[in-house]
Amino acid sequence: MIHFSCDLCGREMDAENELRFVVKLEVYAAYDPLAQDDVDEDRDHLQEIHEILERSEVADCAEIGEDVYQQLRFDLCPECRKRFVKNPLGRKHTEQFDFSQN
Ligand SMILES: [Zn+2]
Repeated sequence: MIHFSCDLCGREMDAENELRFVVKLEVYAAYDPLAQDDVDEDRDHLQEIHEILERSEVADCAEIGEDVYQQLRFDLCPECRKRFVKNPLGRKHTEQFDFSQN
């Protein structure tokens, strides 16, 4: 029997009787030259990203820094999936519902 554990609450799931939900997140630096006027304070950071990108063209593509691009994958149980879609970024002030923990 295959067991999965939820990446949020850590609970073991029964793969045969429970739905498992997969969350895929892509986090990458918004590197848009047209938006430079708005982000003066981020210029050093953009420069840094640019240097990383330049280096990564020469080096192995898989070595792109996690600061620039990151792909994440999580397995969620049904309860955590419900919570996740309501509050994907984990913002605290949106907890207006009282989630009862079983
Ligand atoms: Zn869970």
